[in-house]
Amino acid sequence: MSPPGRAHRHDAVFAAGLGVLLCLLAAAIVGGSGSGGDRAAAVPLTVVATGEADVGADGALRHAGGRSRQSSARLRFELPPMQSDGPYWAVWIPRVPVTALWLQGGDWRSARRGFFAAGESEEVALSGGYLIPLPRGWQGPVELDLYVQGVAAIALRPQVLRVDAAARVERRAVAIAVSVYAALFTLSLLSLALYTAARDRTFLSLSACATLALLMLAGTNGHLYGMPGLRLLAGWQAHGLWTLAFLFLASWLKLVQHYVGARESGTGAMRSLNVAVLALLAAAGLSLLDLRLFDPVLQPLVALGWAAAGLGSLVLLVDAGRRRLAMAAPLAVVVLATLLLALLRHLADFGVVPELAATRYGFQCGLVALMIVFAVGLVGRISEYRDQRDYDRLARADTERRMQREAARTDLVNALQVKLRQLAPGDIEWTAFRLLFDHLLPLLPVESMVAVAQGFHGRELLVTHPHAQKDRLWLDLDRRLLVLKRQAANGIALQQPVTTPEAVAIEAMIPLRIRAPAWGAVLLRRRGAEGFTSDEMALATEFVRLAQVQVEQAIATVNLRRSAELDALTGSLNRRSIDQWLARSFIEAERDGQPLSVLFVDLDRFKSVNDRFGHACGDHCLRAAARALRGALGEGDLFGRYGGEEFIAILPGRGGAAARQAGEDLRAAVERLAVEWEGQSLRLTVSVGVATRRDRERTPAATIERADKALYAAKRSGRNCVHVAPAVFS
Ligand code: GH3
Ligand code: MG
Ligand code: MG
Repeated sequence: MSPPGRAHRHDAVFAAGLGVLLCLLAAAIVGGSGSGGDRAAAVPLTVVATGEADVGADGALRHAGGRSRQSSARLRFELPPMQSDGPYWAVWIPRVPVTALWLQGGDWRSARRGFFAAGESEEVALSGGYLIPLPRGWQGPVELDLYVQGVAAIALRPQVLRVDAAARVERRAVAIAVSVYAALFTLSLLSLALYTAARDRTFLSLSACATLALLMLAGTNGHLYGMPGLRLLAGWQAHGLWTLAFLFLASWLKLVQHYVGARESGTGAMRSLNVAVLALLAAAGLSLLDLRLFDPVLQPLVALGWAAAGLGSLVLLVDAGRRRLAMAAPLAVVVLATLLLALLRHLADFGVVPELAATRYGFQCGLVALMIVFAVGLVGRISEYRDQRDYDRLARADTERRMQREAARTDLVNALQVKLRQLAPGDIEWTAFRLLFDHLLPLLPVESMVAVAQGFHGRELLVTHPHAQKDRLWLDLDRRLLVLKRQAANGIALQQPVTTPEAVAIEAMIPLRIRAPAWGAVLLRRRGAEGFTSDEMALATEFVRLAQVQVEQAIATVNLRRSAELDALTGSLNRRSIDQWLARSFIEAERDGQPLSVLFVDLDRFKSVNDRFGHACGDHCLRAAARALRGALGEGDLFGRYGGEEFIAILPGRGGAAARQAGEDLRAAVERLAVEWEGQSLRLTVSVGVATRRDRERTPAATIERADKALYAAKRSGRNCVHVAPAVFS
């Protein structure tokens, strides 16, 4: 809804404009009406009642109406002499709905004319009256009888005019009729088009109402039956006219109901309105039945319908005006004016008031004005629809964008969680930022993205998009690294213009949350001076935070896993992971048919090291020995601390002599080792027990037992030696 204040100012302006328009129209009608303007073109006429007909003071013959009723009146006038080749005289009677009328005088008798047989004997299409030419050469006093038949009660006002004057009157009638019909027709089509555009049923009502108004007016003007296809309606005669009036009034009420809004008005008012509409439709049906029984009531019923529908709609509109509905007040004014004009028209029809151009055409113009005001009011609503639709569209776009972001966010988190945990520590950071770029780009189109960091988990970081421009982007960054570092240290996302040789661009900087002196930032660059909306900045910040958090978590997980797998003192595999590796290696060896050897390595007389130099020295020696042993093994070999000062090596793919040689290498590596401790150089030795998996051994237990026994055998043999387990111990 537009603000009421604005709507009412519009209403006032519109009402004033409409008032001016109606005045102009009225002036045109009144100015053009005056057959009296040309006195010589008309002849004074006396109408005298004959039989039971009633003649008013203004010379109107009041036909009472009825199926077989015929009225007649005598017309007395005196025709001045006229040249035989000049214009001649005619009797002209404004067109009113009669079944038949004719003139008769002496042995002259005019053709029968009828309202419902229009178009057959007409000189002018859409004519405004019955033009009955008198024979040329008639002059002096004339007496003619006018005979009328018809169901509807109606007043006839014959005039005697020169044919050229009558033609002028007709032309004016045609002009007015054409304007009225064209206006209604256009309005009807227009509102139909607006209905398809706006999908507001009120437009459909307006279209229906304008169409019915057009039909009804064409009916009352007697033009309907001249239109091809509609001639059929002539069969119903006056009943057809009344039907059209009832239908129009029903559609009118429906239109007002739609316009003022069924929900806003009370349900009681709406119910009575619906009843009225139904009653009008019933009356239309009744009228169509064309029963003689209803003849006397139908015409008063039409008048009643007009009064009821007019006053009812007036009440609704005044109420709507109080609710500040747009155009309700001007509508009420025009409805009132049209009602008064319709009343005048009815009174003129019954011969109560004299027939004037205002009574004949005023009500028709009022109806057109009414439809126009309705159309204007409804078109005013279109802007409301548009606002509403724009608002809806924006809201929908906003929701869509938010959902898209939410989806991208979830995607990013999933991708980060799945990917990062499988990576080696050195790959986690850059992979995370590459994933971030991939997910951010569709939502935030930019020319380039750079993630730069120093000391991020102890590493330097530079990830760029596009990847191919890494060197160029780095060159650009390198110049202003100090400035960037200072800005990033503030921890606040910002955007600033950057000038490049090619173009102006805006760069957004989202700092990483790292403790100084380490620092890092994600830089998004966009060409042009537009920059990033606060929304986009928030999005970028959120995604960068997400990536960073996921990196922290992935690194923490990797560290945790490593600490669970590794022995804290020596950094080699711990007992738990060695057991797992053993099991796996045995399965693989069995599957691949490859040899597999297990070597137990035990430090000789280590207790005495502890005893002599202390536990710290013992630990130091253990670390040094582990390093030496690991160094003596191959890439594919596994090495771990089995417990205390006992180590284990698993050699996939090696057995027999190769395994013994490996044991020998281990032994020699420790023997060569000189461990520095408090200025002293300590020497260590190890004993090694070797066992190679036998074909039937699917699990490590038996092999380990043999390796253990081999180790003891080595100890017994004097230590610092390698013993290979026999296939079977005796
Ligand atoms: P050998 O194996 O040659 O028979 O003699 P040994 O002295 O090595 O004998 P033993 O296996 O009985 O003693 C192992 C010693 O290793 C006992 C313990 O003091 C020492 N030890 C085991 N684990 C650790 C450790 O984590 N740190 C230190 N400092 N000493 C350890
Ligand atoms: Mg020992
Ligand atoms: Mg031991």
